[in-house]
This record gives sequence, C-alpha cells and structure tokens, in this order.
Amino acid sequence: MIAPDLCLYNGKIVSMDKYGTIKEAVAIKDGKIVQVGSFSEIKNAISDETTVIDLNGKTVLPGFIDAHQHIFQTGYNLMNVNCGKSSIREIVTAIEEAAKEKENENEWIIGWGLNEANIAEKRLPNADDLSHIPNPVYITRFCLHTAVVNDKALSIAGIGDETPDPEGGEILRNSDGSVKGILRETAMDLVKEYLPPYSIDSLKEAVKFASDHYMKNGITHVHEAGLGFLTGTMNELRALVEMSLDGTLGIRMNGMILESYFEEAKQMGLLTGFGNDLFKIGAIKMFADGTLSGQTAAVNQRYTNSENNTGILIYSPEELSEKIVASHKAGFQVAVHGIGDRAIEHILSAYEQALELFPREDHRHRIEHCGIINQEILDRLKKSDIITVPHPGIVHFAGDTYKSVLNENVIKGLYAVKTLLDAGVLVAGSSDSPVIPCSPLIGMYTAMSRESIQGDKIVPQESIPLYDAVKMYTINAAKAAFTESEVGSIEVGKFADLTILPSGFMQYSAEEVKDAEIEMTVINGQVVYQKELKMHNV
Ligand SMILES: [Zn+2]
Repeated sequence: MIAPDLCLYNGKIVSMDKYGTIKEAVAIKDGKIVQVGSFSEIKNAISDETTVIDLNGKTVLPGFIDAHQHIFQTGYNLMNVNCGKSSIREIVTAIEEAAKEKENENEWIIGWGLNEANIAEKRLPNADDLSHIPNPVYITRFCLHTAVVNDKALSIAGIGDETPDPEGGEILRNSDGSVKGILRETAMDLVKEYLPPYSIDSLKEAVKFASDHYMKNGITHVHEAGLGFLTGTMNELRALVEMSLDGTLGIRMNGMILESYFEEAKQMGLLTGFGNDLFKIGAIKMFADGTLSGQTAAVNQRYTNSENNTGILIYSPEELSEKIVASHKAGFQVAVHGIGDRAIEHILSAYEQALELFPREDHRHRIEHCGIINQEILDRLKKSDIITVPHPGIVHFAGDTYKSVLNENVIKGLYAVKTLLDAGVLVAGSSDSPVIPCSPLIGMYTAMSRESIQGDKIVPQESIPLYDAVKMYTINAAKAAFTESEVGSIEVGKFADLTILPSGFMQYSAEEVKDAEIEMTVINGQVVYQKELKMHNV
C-alpha cells in the first residue's frame, strides 16, 4: 500500500455512514480518504512522508456542508462595515475607523446592518452625524430598503435640497426642507450607481473573505443559493469558475443558477452536476414568496397583527408551474424558496405537475427553507420525494418575532424538522448566511433546543438529537446536491473534508454545542483552519 500523506489517530471518527460507524483513525492520500479504522490497522501504511496527528480523543466529523447560503453577500458584509450597533456614537466610530483605513478620500465606505430598534437613540444616523467623514459613506438598513448617506455621497450623486423624490422612492428631509441623508427604495438607486462596481476581481475577493470565515466555522462545502442574485449578472458564475480552475477557490461549492438565467443555461447545455471537484452547477433557483419577518411569506392564515395580510406570491400559481415544469423538463434539479404554507402548497402542485408530465427518477427537487408545514404538506413532500432545506438557526434569531405574528396552531408547523425527519423526508441543513450567522453549530444548537434569543422554547417537540442535526449538515446536505458519493461522510474514496471538534462532542448538550470551538478544518486533505493554541502560563 502507498503511504498516506496524512494520518489522524487516537480520535473519535464519527463517519456518518449508513451504519453509524465510529473508528479511531483515518488515513488520507492525494486529498482522499484511503483508510478508516483502528490505528493498529492504519499504522503499517505510515512512512516518513506521512504527517501524523495525534487527535488526543478529539471528534472528527465529515466536513460541514451549508446547503443554502449567499457567499457574495456574506463576503461583502465581512469586507464592509458592520453597523448593527447599539448607539449612533458606535456607528459613527466604526465609520471613522474605516475612513482611517482608506487610501484616499474618494474611496467609498460601505456599511450594513442598521436597525434603529436596537439603537439607543431609536433613530437612524443621518448626514449630520457623518458630516465630518471625508469619504463618501453608504450604509444600508438590515432590510436593504433604506440607506443612510453622508454629504460627500450626496454631492457625488448630485442630490440636493431641490432634487425631487424619484418615483417609488423617497429622499427624507428635515423640517427646513434640507436633505437628511436617508434614502428609501428607488431613491437609493440615485447613489447606488456611483458605488464601486461588482467587478470579477471584487467578487473573487468577497468569495475569499467568506470562504476563510466559513472554514473557521468548520464549513468545507457550501451551496450557493442563486448565482446572479447579488449583481444581476453571470459574473458571479464566472468568478467561481475561474477560481475553481486556478486553484484559488478554497472551499467546495455547488452553485445554483437564478431562474432569470434559465434560458441561457439551457441554451448552453449546462446541467446540474456539471463542473469539477471544487465547483459544480446546482439547481435552478427561484422564489415563490417572501419572509416571515417581513410578513411577505405566503401563508394560509393571516398574520395575526394584520387585518387580512397573508403575504405575497412572487408568481401566480400558473407562472410558477410553468417555470418549474420548464426547468424540470430541461433536466435541471429545481430549488424553490418557499417559506409560508400557502407558497409551499403551490410549489408542491407545480412539482407534482412536472413529475406527472415528465416523470424522472431521482430528481432531488428542493424546497428552500420550508418554513411552515401541515399534515397535507408533509404527505405531499414524502410522496414526491422533495428535499427540504431549512435554516433551523432562524428559529433562534427570529422565533420571538414569529410567535408574535403567527397563530398558535400555525406555529406548530414552524421549521418542523423532527416531523419531517420522522416522516422520512430528507432534511438538509443551512444558514442562509448572511441572513443569520453561518455557524452550523448554531443551527444544530437550535435544532436541538428550539430556543429563541429571549429564551423561549419554540415548539420544543420539534427538537432533534445531535446526531440527526449533524446528519443534516453533512450527508443529507451532500444528497441535496447529488454529491454524496464524494463528500458528506468519512468513507474510503471520498474527499478528505473533515471538521474536528473537541473530545466528547457527540455527548454535548445543545448549549455546549453552541459554544463548542472548531479545532480544525480539513479540505481535500489540507488543514485549512486550525484553532490557535491557547498560551498557558507555566
Ligand atoms: Zn437565501
């Protein structure tokens, strides 16, 4: 036998294979797993060239896979200024710090995450607060429908007191009529066009930032939920293809294509699964409704704080069917964002129609998020073999809001992961980063505890054990992208993508899972992240 490059031993290798095998050592050669077993079995193959790591009892899991996230937005958020702070002073200080880092006064400072509900002054910052900043400043509110700008930005965009509100937008003004530096909806576009463009190089930089961040969180593989979503161009695909070819793509990726590019993709003969070891084309991605927090998710029973709001459908049921049937017929996997039960029912009807017209084995069509289910939805998911891709962490971050706008009987079906798993529906884990933090450990913690930020248990009967939660973020997520023969479990022949956690991890409580630290992340047999060793005073 040829000597392995890397051997990890004296650990708990939780393979996540179908037998639930647990071993103590794993050997890796040329980026792939060549042996899993006891150290005495593997020892014989080791040579001088083998790097041998004593795990000291640590837990080795298959590399975490995030089945639905937005890598470009996540990367830009990391590159830009986080303004989700609790006072105007803190926000201004963050912008001042960013200004110091800039090479010249013409470089834009871009911030994100404003939320006046969390700001002590209970208001957004404005141009006056930022008037001393020499660089142009553009900060978005968390909803992305409002932006705050400073005087320099206003003058670059040519916005003055006389500028009329554009159609569908508003330039907020002070009582004396002067512009305030707060822009709503289409008024944001007046400034947006002067922001630095999303060049391919800039997109690549965002991918690099996000990938490094993901690796620190134990993530080795992500599904991108919609190439074209951020820039409205296929530069996103171009950037990833180039990176996967020149060796700069550090993380494994599966890129869904936004439905608006379906015709082009079909014309070119692209198909789900085409690509290389690092990057593959994913599903055709489309949206059926909005979000529960925005009360735009299409629900059957009205939001309880409204007269008769039941959310919105992005497409009429007929249009949605047409799009789903066309993508299915062309041979693509299809992934549809569906959060409210009303939207999910329409998606299911469309899938049923597509499968009846053009039967296909192993289609693996997906419903992204799948926020609210009921018994009928459950039966139909099972019957058509639809994969669900929830982001359980949202129950932690937004569960309190959901409780205030949804009926008690509707809440029962909220991100009902246990019910789905018990029924035999494939559930893949995700974060929807940057909507919530990317950490799969937060997703697992919430799937186990169902605990909201306020400490409320949101439908605790939907709690699942840690093993099932890990499965969601490993082998199940791999299946959701047809990559289970390459990744998702620690088995001979698969890529050596591994996430290493402290010893005893599989016995951790939900709380301990949340606070656990990633010890090491391995992609293709290379250590891509390692926790810094704590310095001890001797
Ligand atoms: Zn998303």
